[in-house]
Amino acid sequence: MTISYEKFNLKEVINASGKMTILGVSKVSENVLAAQKFGGEHFFEMSELSIQTGAYLAKLLTVEDAQVVSSASAGIAQSVAALIGEGSVYHAYHPYTDKITKREIILPKGHNVDYGTPVEVMVEQGGGQVVEAGYANMCSPEHIETMITDQTAAILYIKSHHTVQKSMLSVEEAATVAKAHKLPLIVDAAAEEDLFKYIEAGADLVIYSGAKAIEGPSAGLVIGKKAYIEWIRLQGKGIGRAMKIGKDNILGFTQAVEDYVKNGSEAGDSMQARLAPFIAALNQINNIEAKSVQDGAGRDIYRASIKVSGEKSAKAVIQELKAESPAIYTREYQANNGIIEFDIRSVNEEEMTKIVTRLTEIMN
Ligand SMILES: *Cc1c(COP(=O)(O)O)cnc(C)c1O
Repeated sequence: MTISYEKFNLKEVINASGKMTILGVSKVSENVLAAQKFGGEHFFEMSELSIQTGAYLAKLLTVEDAQVVSSASAGIAQSVAALIGEGSVYHAYHPYTDKITKREIILPKGHNVDYGTPVEVMVEQGGGQVVEAGYANMCSPEHIETMITDQTAAILYIKSHHTVQKSMLSVEEAATVAKAHKLPLIVDAAAEEDLFKYIEAGADLVIYSGAKAIEGPSAGLVIGKKAYIEWIRLQGKGIGRAMKIGKDNILGFTQAVEDYVKNGSEAGDSMQARLAPFIAALNQINNIEAKSVQDGAGRDIYRASIKVSGEKSAKAVIQELKAESPAIYTREYQANNGIIEFDIRSVNEEEMTKIVTRLTEIMN
């Protein structure tokens, strides 16, 4: 039996909710699939594959070196382990040894978030001990500075919409503190779109997730200082083994980064053009008023927004959309106001037609 949703008794899913981990985050392009296929069908000297794809990405991103890892989480754990072990093979084999005591990782308190897993868990997996700086609602360069001791191994900064945003020091300010104390600065930019600016801001290691903004397969990327990246590679003999990434995804992800750097993400204009016929079709449905709206945070993202009237509430419609196959997932944040949004970044024309068909059934 060939692969299908039915084979495993799964519902087909249309993801009109955005980049959601619970739905598998991204779909990959034909280009990326071709690279994954080449990876799946051939053998490689694996250590060379790792070094050479890293060198290729480093050149593309104008950084000293890069390493493809299995996820951003693995990137955090292995970066922490690398900066604690500093290239020691003994440490790679005994990552939690008490012969090495310098394990403190300073993290702004407002950055100690749960992105699906607490940041702290990944730091501890790498053998680090989180030392929080500042308070729940603020962290200044001085707050970081006062927590530095001779046991500090690194400073960790989480750049994310999950974190506290107000009264937080910038990446540049964190880099200034790090440099003044000769400490490495790790920036977790897992879901961020800019692959250049945090290195430019002075970070020593920057971590990205493969399937978020980059829209690659399941993977992670660490870029930065050559010596540190080499220490990360050494973790492959230790904790990194449990976070191994396959040759198919190393090649698919590398292709995804290359395409992303060349083409960026889909522009707002293109989304609006794709939305126009979809919105016209939605407006034909009973008790639905549809229009195009820009992202609330002002990003160059456009979505279809529908106002539901009549007997069924927006919440009920959302539930019905998910109930059958295809299960249609939408943005639900404004359901209390009778509004449902469709994010089309991962939705093609055929899927839009399926959404219109299903919604017509539900509203009649
Ligand atoms: C998603 C996310 C991660 C984890 O990325 P994975 O590749 O899924 O491990 C880490 N940090 C932040 C801030 C994230 O948003």
